[in-house]
Amino acid sequence: MLLTPGPTPVPEFVRTAMADITIHHRTPEFEDIFAQTRELLLEIFDMPEAVMLASSGTGAMEACVTNLCHKKALTINSGKFGERFGKIAQAFNIDFTEIKNEWNTPVSVEAVVEAVKNDSDIDAIFIQLCESAGGLRHPVEQIAAEVKKINPSISIIADGITAIGVEKIDTTNLDAVITGSQKALMLPPGLAMIGLSNAAVEKINKKPAGYYLNLASEIKKQRENTTAYTATTTLIIGLKAILKHIKENGGFDALYAKTAQRAQATREALKAIGMDIYPTVPADAMTTVYTEASNDIRKLLKTKYNVNIAGGQDHLKGKIFRINHMGLVEDYEASWAVNAVELVLDELNIRPFDGTANKVFAQTMFKG
Ligand SMILES: *Cc1c(COP(=O)(O)O)cnc(C)c1O
Repeated sequence: MLLTPGPTPVPEFVRTAMADITIHHRTPEFEDIFAQTRELLLEIFDMPEAVMLASSGTGAMEACVTNLCHKKALTINSGKFGERFGKIAQAFNIDFTEIKNEWNTPVSVEAVVEAVKNDSDIDAIFIQLCESAGGLRHPVEQIAAEVKKINPSISIIADGITAIGVEKIDTTNLDAVITGSQKALMLPPGLAMIGLSNAAVEKINKKPAGYYLNLASEIKKQRENTTAYTATTTLIIGLKAILKHIKENGGFDALYAKTAQRAQATREALKAIGMDIYPTVPADAMTTVYTEASNDIRKLLKTKYNVNIAGGQDHLKGKIFRINHMGLVEDYEASWAVNAVELVLDELNIRPFDGTANKVFAQTMFKG
């Protein structure tokens, strides 16, 4: 059972759709598939423009830094992925300033407002919706609303790689929202997507940047249902299949509601057996638990109960574990996982097993 917060398992109907014979990307047949996928993508982003890029999620992060920051970037670092925006800026000699917090702590709206007020050079803010390093949720929508009141020309770029497909995002004040194929969208890695506001498109076109990751040329081509370079035809066919499936099986809102409920049930179940939820504001994409026994717990979960979950990186190595909620996870899979954690705690002589985790999971999931 693969319950890591990316990559997530690829459903069989998606694998089947992608197994069809190769089609050329410069044909009316593929343009038709591209057009349908693009429509679905604009719908899930809830934004007026979107581009698909043949890269992992980081390629889209880089494209947003190089195409949407013309003066100075403000990056929000509460973990590995927020830190990455700063590293990208550095790699391109783009001036940037960073607000750094511990990996369990979201940035405060006030800290961002203060930074923007004190530095008129800042023209773009880069932030994660869900920072996957510790599983926290930043108050991106509130930050965006406050920043736009101060200066509406500052671009707000949100990395939604573990948020798009998890929850409904209010994109009113967002200029770019990034996602990738291998997390909540349940596809193999290799496709990155960016939703864009009209203001972002204008800014990009005013000063086109880069070659392969040139968003101005991609926007132009993709509006004509083609791509500047060879399209990831297989992954785009897979993307169409998954988005269509979600739409035709209850819709996006039903998926978001189900994910939120499963995430809450998992958190409550683990708290009830004495586990500490790591982030002060947890995102629904994953549940992150802080425990010194993380390595032992993960090892037994995998060898004895066939549950694969993720650990931590850098200073959180061996200190946390992360259970995925993204994608089409069945309720019984999450219930099996929390029960397995409780069994493992018993085996490690941390807490005797009495079935509490599953009881609380079921109560929260089905009666909550
Ligand atoms: C996984 C992830 C990324 C990086 O994506 P890659 O596909 O590995 O390049 C960036 N941001 C967040 C929040 C992620 O979870």
